[in-house]
Amino acid sequence: MPNAKYIFVTGGVTSSLGKGIISASLATLLQSRGFKVTIQKFDPYINIDPGTLNPYEHGECYVTDDGAETDLDLGHYERFLNVPTSRANSITTGRIYKSVIDKERQGAYLGKTVQVIPHITDEIKNSIKLLAKNKAFDFVITEIGGTVGDIESLPYIEAVRQMKWELGKNCLVVHLTLIPYLAAAGELKTKPTQHSVKALLEYGIQPDILVCRTEHTLNKELKKKIALFCNVEISAVVESIDASTIYEVPFLMKEEKLDEVVLRKLSIDTDQKHDLTAWSKFLRKFKNPTKEVNIALVGKYTELKDAYLSIAEAFKHAGVANDTRVNLNWIHSEGINDDNVAEKVQDMSAVLVAPGFGERGVEGKIATIKYVRENNIPFFGICLGMQCAVIEFSRNVLKLKNANSTEINVDTPHPVIDIMDEQKKVTMKGGTMRLGAYSCQLSKDSLAYKIYQSDTIQERHRHRFEFNNKYLDKFVNAGMINTGMNQKTNLVEIIEIPSHPFFIGVQFHPEYKSTVAQPHPLFVSFVAAALKHQKSK
Ligand code: GLN
Repeated sequence: MPNAKYIFVTGGVTSSLGKGIISASLATLLQSRGFKVTIQKFDPYINIDPGTLNPYEHGECYVTDDGAETDLDLGHYERFLNVPTSRANSITTGRIYKSVIDKERQGAYLGKTVQVIPHITDEIKNSIKLLAKNKAFDFVITEIGGTVGDIESLPYIEAVRQMKWELGKNCLVVHLTLIPYLAAAGELKTKPTQHSVKALLEYGIQPDILVCRTEHTLNKELKKKIALFCNVEISAVVESIDASTIYEVPFLMKEEKLDEVVLRKLSIDTDQKHDLTAWSKFLRKFKNPTKEVNIALVGKYTELKDAYLSIAEAFKHAGVANDTRVNLNWIHSEGINDDNVAEKVQDMSAVLVAPGFGERGVEGKIATIKYVRENNIPFFGICLGMQCAVIEFSRNVLKLKNANSTEINVDTPHPVIDIMDEQKKVTMKGGTMRLGAYSCQLSKDSLAYKIYQSDTIQERHRHRFEFNNKYLDKFVNAGMINTGMNQKTNLVEIIEIPSHPFFIGVQFHPEYKSTVAQPHPLFVSFVAAALKHQKSK
């Protein structure tokens, strides 16, 4: 296409309506017609990125190849589109202001008063247009975080108004709202939607399409009413009914012709039909598994599913690849000890120990790993999970009393996990971990090599601590071997116990790279190992 088209997705009435999933579903439909699409998220908070936020505040922190710590919606974008995102896809108010203030100090605005309009709004607009540079994409979909009317998202809404005005036919606004069902009245109510459109109009934006989240079907009359009150065509009132899985939403949006309306409104004539063959197959298999398996996820945010979102999604992809429903059992590591671990994991066919930071729950993770190692239960440790496997082995096999990570105990006599050299001088907290994709060399004959079928892999990292190579010989001699290394820095990225049926720990985060189109091989093999273990029980 000659020029990129810009689609904005705003939200009204309430948060948590699923703007990320709607954006990703629309993108999937456009992509399935052969268009190149990218999705960008604006978050209205003042942090530079969510990297310093607690998962209780913001769920999982998602990491891109280029090392940006981002909102978890970027994970959805990658899982749906199978196209990597980057730092440019995740913008916060903090980043916008920082950039403007840095420019002001450099003298970029000499003589001028720096203001929200035009300087902040220009910065916002530039970071949208940046994605369309070099004709990389036909569509740039920009999701505006927050709810219309929030004070903090006002500059973004103003930037959308300006872009709509400047770009005319090349730009449109999709507004996602809620149509609540009042059980007492037995009715769906359109008033909150009318009000949220009114709020948008006050800021100068007439939405082109309304996507209405609802628990019940919207009949023609209701759509007509919404259209009339909100100045949109009836065909542009799109129902988004609750789905049993997020992976069904692209099909629901296709039925509602969301992408067709978008293309018509942007005057794009195309006879390209959707090719959703792989997606349909995925969904069919997801809904009709022939097998079932129980896998434990041991972590410290078990009441907060968003904290391990990419891991949970990676299990869905891997489940489909194995024709299996994976029942993830979230077990809180703080409640596990040597005495109760058997009872906690007895019905599990495999155990994953989650990533994390800090001391809380670590001893429970270590007790779990001792049990699964000694009882030949398939084990997969990610980042802190891998580090805990190293600590467990050093204490119970190498008999290094009180061995630990210096993150947990700086005075441990055996720092088998220690701060990385490059981290020793770091004092600032934001964006200073070892972040993003690094390459890793796999040893031939290892489980990792068998799984990846390649000698070099690229995986994403987010950590400050690492395996302490001073202890490497001891581990290898006792049967825990390093099978993945970073060639440049000599960091241990993967450990395995070859005498165990399936025991692997990785310093990186494979979950970030699992997508519908490409389930991650480590998760696929781990689910297969769980099935095998289940059969042998
Ligand atoms: N806290 C550990 C470190 O910084 C592990 C981090 C993680 O699990 N992402 O090395």
